[in-house]
Amino acid sequence: MTELELRDLRKTFRSRGRPPVDAVRGIDLALRSGELLGLLGPSGCGKSTTLRMIAGLESVSGGDILVGGTSVIDRPAQARNIGVAFENYALYPPLTVAENLAFGLKARRGNARGDVQRKVAEIADRVDLTGILDARPAGLSSGQKQRVSLARALVREPDVLLLDEPLSHLDAAQRDTTRRELKRIQRDLGHTTILVTHDQEEALSLADRIAVMKDGVIQQIGTPYEIYDSPANLFVADFVGEPAINLLPGTVTDDGRARLSDSVHLALPVPVTQGREVVVGVRPEDLSLTGEDGLPARVVAHEPLLEAGVATLALDGVERPLVVLTGPEVRLAHDEQVRVAADTRLTHVFDAETGELLR
Ligand code: ADP
Repeated sequence: MTELELRDLRKTFRSRGRPPVDAVRGIDLALRSGELLGLLGPSGCGKSTTLRMIAGLESVSGGDILVGGTSVIDRPAQARNIGVAFENYALYPPLTVAENLAFGLKARRGNARGDVQRKVAEIADRVDLTGILDARPAGLSSGQKQRVSLARALVREPDVLLLDEPLSHLDAAQRDTTRRELKRIQRDLGHTTILVTHDQEEALSLADRIAVMKDGVIQQIGTPYEIYDSPANLFVADFVGEPAINLLPGTVTDDGRARLSDSVHLALPVPVTQGREVVVGVRPEDLSLTGEDGLPARVVAHEPLLEAGVATLALDGVERPLVVLTGPEVRLAHDEQVRVAADTRLTHVFDAETGELLR
C-alpha cells in the first residue's frame, strides 16, 4: 500500500526586494507502507523544505501530499498525524523526559491520563529511555537527546515519521550504535519513514530506497545498490561513494574507446558514436593493479589503511589523478611504475554535456 505520496510538490520562497527562490521544483515520490526512504542531497538542495511541507510547517506552492491516499494539504500540522524528529531535538528544557514525551499526547483531546502514562512507558521501553524518564534535557548526552526526540515523534503513533538529519550531532562511535538502534526501532514499529540527510553513509546503511536530490529536483530514486551501481547521471555518481568515483573526460575514438590522452584509451561498456565527448566513471574499488595487461601508470601516493589502501596514480598525459583501492597487503613506492585495469562491466559512461548515463 502507498502510505505517503508527493505529487509534483513545489515550493517557491518569495520575499520582497529579493528574487524568488525555487527551493523544491516538482517532486514525485511514493512510499510503501513501512518503507524507509532516505532523502539525500547536499546542503541547500531543498530537503528540509520538502520535509517541512510534508509536516505542515511550511506552505506549499504547488502539487499535493497524500497520506494513506488522502490529501492532507489543507490540514494544519497538528491534524496530519505526522511525527517529526528534528535535527536540533527541539525538546522543552524545563520538562523532564517523561513530560516531553507526554506533551504532544496531552495536547490532543481524548487522551485520558492513564493512557498518556501507558503510552509514554511503552515508547520509553522501545527506545530505551526507561532509566532517564525523570531527567531533564540539559543533563542528557547527544545520543539520549536524539532518542527522546525520536520517542516524542513516535509516541503519537504517527502514520508517517520524518527524521531530519537524526545522527548529525553524534560522534562517530555514538553514530554507529544509534544508526543500528534507529533501524531496529523503525523495523519493529514499521513506520513509513523519510530520513533527510546529507550523509551518504547514513542513507546507504539505513534506507530501503534513496532519493538523491539536487537544486530542488530528484535526480534518481532507487535502492542503495541501484544508486551505487547504476548512477543515473554524473551528479549522483560523484555524490555517492567514498572515496569518490574517478571521473575521466575523453573523446570517443573510431574504434569505440574513450581517448583520455594520446596514449590512454579506455574501453567503454556500451557503443558510443565516434567523436562524442564523454566522461568515464570508474569506482576506486573497480580498478585493479595487474601484472601485465592494463594501462601504465605512475604511483603518486599510497595511503595504507587498516582494511584497504588508497593509491593515487598518474596516467600518461591524463590530467586527473586516478584513485584506486588496493588490498591491505599491497606495498607501493612513490614513482613506482604499475599497470592498472578497469573492469569494463563496472565502468559507466556519461554524456559530458548533459551528464546523463549512456546506456
Ligand atoms: P537543505 O535542507 O537541503 O539544506 P533547504 O530546504 O533548507 O535545503 O533550502 C533549500 C533552498 O531554499 C535554499 O536555497 C535555501 O536558501 C532556501 N530557503 C530555505 N528556507 C527559506 C526561507 N524561509 N526563505 C527563503 N529561502 C529559503
